[in-house]
Amino acid sequence: METTLCIIKPDAVKNGFEDKINEKIISSGLKIIRSKKTLLTEEIASDFYKEHAHKPFFNELVEFIISGEVVVQILEGQDAIKSYRSLMGSTNPVEAEEGTLRKLFAESLSKNAVHGSDSPVSAAREIDIMKKIF
Ligand code: ATP
Ligand code: MG
Repeated sequence: METTLCIIKPDAVKNGFEDKINEKIISSGLKIIRSKKTLLTEEIASDFYKEHAHKPFFNELVEFIISGEVVVQILEGQDAIKSYRSLMGSTNPVEAEEGTLRKLFAESLSKNAVHGSDSPVSAAREIDIMKKIF
C-alpha cells in the first residue's frame, strides 16, 4: 500500500466541491485515511511549495493556497500516487482529460481545485510537513 498527499484547494472549497471530489476519490478505490479542513499558514505553504520558489508564479501560488480554507488529506491505496495523479488530470484544466477532477471542478491553471504529490519522495516530504496540522 502507498500513501499520497491530497489538498482540496481554496477555489474548490469555496465552490462547495469538497464532497463531490471525495466521492470521486473513494470510487476510484483510494481510501481517505486522514482529513482536515484548515487554513494553512504562510510558513507551511512556502515550505510546501519550496520546489517552485524560483518560479515567477511562486508568490501567487502561496497567496492563493493560504487565501481560504483547504482540505488536507492523506490517501492510501495500491499505486496511490500515480492513481490519484491520473484522477486529478493535467495541471491546466483546459488540457485535463474528461472525467478528471480538474476537468470537472477547476477554474483555471492557478485555481485548479486539487493538489497531489507527484512522486514517492514528494509524498513523503509533503506528508511530513502536513503532520503538523493533523
Ligand atoms: P500540484 O502540485 O498543485 O498538484 P502539478 O503538480 O500538476 O500541481 P506543478 O508544476 O507542481 O503542477 O505546479 C504547482 C501549481 O502551481 C499548479 O497546481 C498550479 O496551480 C500552479 N501553476 C503551475 N504553473 C503555473 C503558471 N504558469 N502560472 C500560474 N500558476 C501555475
Ligand atoms: Mg506539483
